[in-house]
Amino acid sequence: MTSPASPTGPVLELVDGRAEELGGVPIRRLLPRRPRRTVGAWCFLDQMGPSDALLQVGPHPHIGLQTVTWLLEGEVLHRDSLGVEQPIRPGQLNLMTAGGGVAHAEEGRRGPLEGAQLWVALPDATRHGPAAFEHHGDLPVAEVGNLAATVLVGSLVGTDATSPARHDTPLLGAELRATGAGAARVALEPAFEHALAVLRGAVEIEDAETARAGQLVHLGTGRDGIGLSVPDDAVLLLLGGMPFDEHIVMWWNFVARTFDEIDVARADWAEAQHGGFDRFGPVASALAAIPAPPR
Ligand code: MN
Repeated sequence: MTSPASPTGPVLELVDGRAEELGGVPIRRLLPRRPRRTVGAWCFLDQMGPSDALLQVGPHPHIGLQTVTWLLEGEVLHRDSLGVEQPIRPGQLNLMTAGGGVAHAEEGRRGPLEGAQLWVALPDATRHGPAAFEHHGDLPVAEVGNLAATVLVGSLVGTDATSPARHDTPLLGAELRATGAGAARVALEPAFEHALAVLRGAVEIEDAETARAGQLVHLGTGRDGIGLSVPDDAVLLLLGGMPFDEHIVMWWNFVARTFDEIDVARADWAEAQHGGFDRFGPVASALAAIPAPPR
């Protein structure tokens, strides 16, 4: 799977999430989808739940990406091969940088579960680097009309809200939560491409397109703002970034540049499961490790 991203100017393209399942929890996959696989360096987005099932995802590896976990409801315990054990609750950000290799497990501790899991493709400069983990429990919130904007990553134009979270390419991630029904105009960086995912409720964009929970709308590039009208229960995720011009290959939990790199990572994970060289490191989880599928 490859993704040469090219700036397109403004678009309004509605994507229906594809229903799948992750660790017992129903999800809707919004990225990557054809024909637009990325939004800036954002290369993967699952909307999770709402579900009463407790997420049970055993140890599995990642390379070449960052994982971003954001909850609206519930609690999930993250454990990784750096030795980190970190519960995450609504309003907090878990950000794991895989670099050349990391492994982690995710275990639901309290339901119902509702939220989003995203991946950010790392640029060539850092994708072979050391793994790292950040937890941010206190993120900046800006008021934009009838929206409370929590900035997960990057800065929200027109506000002084900047997230402390690491990003290796110019990037924006913000939760937009209705504080009441009504309309707002959200300022955007024209050089970025953007998309809006609906986690709850609905949104009407520029009086031209309506999206509901489980849908995403690509906004393209070249916009200095976007007019949004929402009901009082809406929760949206605004994603943006400089168009990611590196050609990426995504397979299973890996983001690379070639299938040779994917095959090496796949073989390294198999070897670790058989007690050999462990590129990714052990994860202190009672859940069974997840083998890579055949390729
Ligand atoms: Mn993972």
